[in-house]
Amino acid sequence: KKFVYSFNEGSKDMKELLGGKGAGLAEMTKIGLPVPFGFTVTTQACSRYYQDDQKLADDLAGEIFEKLAELEEVTGKGFGSKENPLLVSVRSGAKISMPGMMDTILNLGLNDDTAEGLARLTENPRFAYDSYRRFIQMFGEVVMEIEKAKFDAIFDTKKEKEGCRFDVELTAGHLKTIIDDYKALVKKETGSCFPQNPGDQLMEAIKAVFRSWNNKRAILYRQLNGIAEDMGTAVNVQAMVFGNMGETSGTGVAFTRNPANGQTALFGEFLVNAQGEDVVAGVRTPQPIGEMEKAFPEAYKEFLRISKLLENHYLDMQDIEFTIEKNRLFLLQTRNGKRTAAATVKIAVDMVKEGLIDKDTAVMRLEPAMIDQLLHPRFDDGDLGGAERIAKGLPASPGAATGRIYFTASDVVAAAENGIAAILVRLETSPEDLAGMAAAQGILTARGGMTSHAAVVARGMGKCCVSGCGELHIDEEGHRLNIGNTVLKEGDYLSLDGTAGEVLLGQLKTVPAELSGDFETIMGWADELRSLGVRANADNPRDAQQALDFGAEGIGLCRTEHMFFEEERIPAVRRMILADTEKERREALSFLLSYQKDDFKRLYQIMGERPVTIRLLDPPLHEFLPHTEDEIRQLSEQIYVPYEKLAKKVEELHEFNPMMGHRGCRLAVTYPEIAEMQAEAIIAAAIEVRREENLNLVPEIMIPLAGMKNELADVKATVERTAQSVMAREGEQIPYLIGTMIELPRAALTADEIAEEAEFFSFGTNDLTQLTFGFSRDDTGKMIKEYKEKGIFKEDPFQSIDEDGVGWLVETGTKKGRAVRPGIHLGICGEHGGDPKSIEFCDRIGLNYVSCSPFRVPAARLAAAQARI
Ligand code: PEP
Ligand code: MG
Repeated sequence: KKFVYSFNEGSKDMKELLGGKGAGLAEMTKIGLPVPFGFTVTTQACSRYYQDDQKLADDLAGEIFEKLAELEEVTGKGFGSKENPLLVSVRSGAKISMPGMMDTILNLGLNDDTAEGLARLTENPRFAYDSYRRFIQMFGEVVMEIEKAKFDAIFDTKKEKEGCRFDVELTAGHLKTIIDDYKALVKKETGSCFPQNPGDQLMEAIKAVFRSWNNKRAILYRQLNGIAEDMGTAVNVQAMVFGNMGETSGTGVAFTRNPANGQTALFGEFLVNAQGEDVVAGVRTPQPIGEMEKAFPEAYKEFLRISKLLENHYLDMQDIEFTIEKNRLFLLQTRNGKRTAAATVKIAVDMVKEGLIDKDTAVMRLEPAMIDQLLHPRFDDGDLGGAERIAKGLPASPGAATGRIYFTASDVVAAAENGIAAILVRLETSPEDLAGMAAAQGILTARGGMTSHAAVVARGMGKCCVSGCGELHIDEEGHRLNIGNTVLKEGDYLSLDGTAGEVLLGQLKTVPAELSGDFETIMGWADELRSLGVRANADNPRDAQQALDFGAEGIGLCRTEHMFFEEERIPAVRRMILADTEKERREALSFLLSYQKDDFKRLYQIMGERPVTIRLLDPPLHEFLPHTEDEIRQLSEQIYVPYEKLAKKVEELHEFNPMMGHRGCRLAVTYPEIAEMQAEAIIAAAIEVRREENLNLVPEIMIPLAGMKNELADVKATVERTAQSVMAREGEQIPYLIGTMIELPRAALTADEIAEEAEFFSFGTNDLTQLTFGFSRDDTGKMIKEYKEKGIFKEDPFQSIDEDGVGWLVETGTKKGRAVRPGIHLGICGEHGGDPKSIEFCDRIGLNYVSCSPFRVPAARLAAAQARI
């Protein structure tokens, strides 16, 4: 087996083996672009390193040195040679890019001798010693695990002592003393000298990069992004080119289109006389890429040509790293660029217009999970108009965020745990801040450009971010922030507009987003592709309207119990529950009837002729009753029922296992008058709306939690009897359907019998999951988390359908139902109806529609389309 590939042996299709960076370098080499030569140690070598107790086996090391010899030959330089030293970069590169999470070492191969050699050869001692001090620091941090702050302290003290404001003002002499101090630090911290043998340096560096796969921030990043743990990283060893050789050199990063908003224009930044890390780390604020035309006219022209070429080659927006060494352009990386959801949409639609990709590809580019970002709220126009803008930074990642400010990642995490909306304010962010960035509403940094760590990571997370806001003066220790004359303390409110790059004082109201423009276009393409219908779970006019705005084709579940929780209704509900006689109960119900009728009318009016599925009352009755003695006393006074009587009733209604108790259709079997009231409201409302608006309505009445044909038949008879009498009273017929939810395993297993009574099924996979696993849906959160950590569950079965068990029941119910009633309409309305993976499953087994909460409707439409591609 081969563990090391030269750049001219690979291609873009070998990401699994070579990692994203390695595959990109190989592809660029293949198509003849100026890439410094090198080789990639594969992800399989990484796995092997872990299998071999974190050692590099002899044969593996042998292969590496063979490729190194080849690299010496190609470059005409010698590794460890004093006359013409070969220096290399050692960089990580997993299959899926994890920006900044793993380690990189530049300038490897330098030691006391080669540094001197380099100084002589380039006639540029300053450059040579600058490279050496960078190398010692990187190697010290990454391989020897010496704290960054300790190197920084030496460096900053020196700068201060020599009165230098910028790094570039340090002379070769200064840098030499820094090198001595760095070496002393290494000796002190590790007990041994800084390794002088380049071969040892290389082996140690490769091992360190392998190890960095398992550093804390990389693990966290994988968790946040659902990346598998077992892939490992490849390591790229590449001949160095130098951006820090003076004014004719530089380094930069550019995207072929704008990754924040998708606009078609080269977007990026560069630094003169610097090495790559300076740009990415956000330490110096770089210049916009356009200005490169003045600094390096030839290289800029070449870069424009190549960036277009790469985009056309990959048919996607590219994120390119480059270095200019003495006016010559070199490419160090290309990959499909990370971008916001808004940019994803615009780029995909533009590329279809440009004829680069087809509609299917465009639809596949937008991940359902990204849609959340597009539905992110923006600031209320009124609030925004009146707000005081106190600073302007870069619009690094769009969106609107408002919250209390904190100055460290851990403070943000703590605040978020206490339910506080927090804004992370940092000088610059580093990978250590990841957890805080994830927990924050928005991120504000003083330094760093559009491709700084903060910007890239925030865009990936879909978090609002304003970066490079130079007006901030952060006093981290004093927990204070000065902007102009404004002084803010930790915990004060601040708002960020990531789209405009603005910082606003105080707390601003946000308003929900709408579908429009390119987003609407791409969703239209998705609708053409999908065959699954998408409905929404909605039980009030606001949700119904939202669902409709987001493209829902009907209501798949209206939970009527939610309509009973309103303040003026609860007393009547309680009277109904507490009634001793049917007569009393009917009185209470008649009060609720007019409310219910109005509720339904409003839903019908909003949904027009689209289907509306209304479910009869489902929850255990005691949910509406008070529990503690105080609450019971209070209620007894409110509704004039003696305390003892009330307490006794509460006691009577108590159930040990309410989820498996007196709920669902069981309520309607024992108290038919409840079902009667609801059926009357449903039919009467439909007749009225038809009269008023001339709409052809077909209400769908859904009976919950049926497990047997006979109990369904019992409730159905009640509903039909009521419907007939309402229609007779109104002198008007209206079509309607009666169906059931399949949410008990027995219902799925006997779906053929149930289909004799039911005109439609809706799979209630929340209860079906609960009852198939025997996991209480309200109590298992913590346990499931542990199950996931132990790998027992890959995914929470309440979020993503358990295909083998619960899914099998759904599929069985589908087949049995259709066998008896071929045209039966089948949907799903559990949480799974909004989960992309479960939607793919629903499409596969041939359901007619999914139903989910309004905000998940666009993602569901997209997932349904992707299931077809
Ligand atoms: C279900 O059980 O999946 C369902 C949709 O009903 P509810 O969540 O209201 O129990
Ligand atoms: Mg249910």
